[in-house]
Amino acid sequence: MTIASANLLSSHLKPLCSRDNHVMKYESGGSRANTGDLASYHCGYVGCSVRYNSTDGYYTLMGMPGHTYSVEEPGVNTVKCPRHNQWLYRRENIDAEPGVRWCCGVEGCDYGYDAKTKGNWVPD
Ligand SMILES: [Zn+2]
Ligand SMILES: [Zn+2]
Repeated sequence: MTIASANLLSSHLKPLCSRDNHVMKYESGGSRANTGDLASYHCGYVGCSVRYNSTDGYYTLMGMPGHTYSVEEPGVNTVKCPRHNQWLYRRENIDAEPGVRWCCGVEGCDYGYDAKTKGNWVPD
């Protein structure tokens, strides 16, 4: 098993949760809070288990610690970085344009994509 792609994930991003728009926090793989093998971002909002990494996009971890598997968030992951073939993450659009901006999670990559979507991110 190679973890090379996991190491590409930058540790200082501020991805927004696909469900509730909270800023997600970085967790290295195999840490106490992160039962998966790979580094990922985790939404800390109450009851929310959404994660992001550039390899899997937005997903949740299912199963028991040590026996987890990831389940992709339905309909969320739609665009990959053409340079790295990695999933983009959502972040606050700091350009004052309506809509959201998707960015590559790979360290040092500045690829971004503007999506003019509204109302698609309502929590359950
Ligand atoms: Zn969340
Ligand atoms: Zn990229």
